[in-house]
Amino acid sequence: MPERNIFDRRGIPTVINAAGTLTRLSGGIVAPGVAEAMRDACLASVDMLELQAHASQILAAITGAEAGYVTAGASAGLLLATAACLSRYDASLMNRLPDTGGMSNEFVIPRGHRNGYDHAVRAAGGRLVEAGLPERQAGVGVRETEAWEIGAAINERTAAVLYVAGEWARPALAEVTEIAHRASVPVIVDAAAELPPQSNLRHFLAQGADLVVFSGGKALGGPAASGILCGRRNLVMSAVVQSIDLDVTWDQWNPPTALVDKKSLTGLPQQGVGRSCKVGKQEIMGLLAAIEHFVAEGDEARHSRWLVDARRIADGLADQDAATVTLVGESDVSCIPRVELQFPRGSTSAALALAERLLDGDRPIHLDQTWSDRGRLIVNPICLRDGEARLVAQNVVRILRQ
Ligand SMILES: *Cc1c(COP(=O)(O)O)cnc(C)c1O
Repeated sequence: MPERNIFDRRGIPTVINAAGTLTRLSGGIVAPGVAEAMRDACLASVDMLELQAHASQILAAITGAEAGYVTAGASAGLLLATAACLSRYDASLMNRLPDTGGMSNEFVIPRGHRNGYDHAVRAAGGRLVEAGLPERQAGVGVRETEAWEIGAAINERTAAVLYVAGEWARPALAEVTEIAHRASVPVIVDAAAELPPQSNLRHFLAQGADLVVFSGGKALGGPAASGILCGRRNLVMSAVVQSIDLDVTWDQWNPPTALVDKKSLTGLPQQGVGRSCKVGKQEIMGLLAAIEHFVAEGDEARHSRWLVDARRIADGLADQDAATVTLVGESDVSCIPRVELQFPRGSTSAALALAERLLDGDRPIHLDQTWSDRGRLIVNPICLRDGEARLVAQNVVRILRQ
């Protein structure tokens, strides 16, 4: 059993998280060194621009970007990226957001990339323009949005193209950035959940993306309320001045030039639209500790560490015959290894019944229910603590045998 923690002392039940780094389950378990970095950060004061300038240097070196910024999450990063593409350096436009009447405010998105998180684009004042048609129903084969359709949707009202990265994402990012850049339009990539593999820290930028957002609270192992925005220096700079506290007179404001080029700004917005995405020194120091650990550990060692629990669970689940057990991603170090429990005939009700039974108990056990409509549950090992893998397997087997 893990030792008693701060939640136990307050009588707040903790859960066994075999579902992954879900925000509603408080995100992941932070990487070694992160909690200490956050604690130390709480105990001293610092100039936030100096701190973010330091973070920018580290993030730029790791991602290959011109600049980086620690945000309050990937969603916050999307909002800031939107604000940057809408107003660039014009302080009067910054002050107007999210009111974008008369501005170039369209964000072209392949229709199949629409998702709940694009609310952040709308929150900053962007208007989403869907391009193409992901064909699923006509039985003529699967066809996704094509690059030329994105090109056709770009016009003088376009502020940026929004691309959501994922294994399934089409068209290829390189085609999208090429067609967007031909029209001098930047491309924002939502890569929130695209780590590992570690190479993705550089990949999307190398494919021509102008801004990329990552979540800090997923497999990166940073604080739940942290994320990364990285990319072109001029756009990151716009995001900085629209989110950082700037209750200071223009003359007295001397930002570190590595982060903000004061000369190219027309003025300072009065608490920009990104001010609601405030990030603290704790999150910044925690995120830096996490990404440095992530890079130092490397995909192979990380995958082996996760695989220990995944194997333990797969072995433990062999003791039942209600569902078929598969260990997925065992030999692919670029992914998160996981255990799939497939119920016969794709039975959704059997999957949901098990998931529900696992939740009643002193320590509820959460599995990933993404594919429960296909009669499949997934056990994700990355948020499990010592001894919990065994508990997951034991409880699943106990319930399935009843
Ligand atoms: C998780 C996720 C987000 C949100 O990330 P946060 O860091 O929690 O804000 C945004 N977009 C996608 C595609 C995600 O998977």
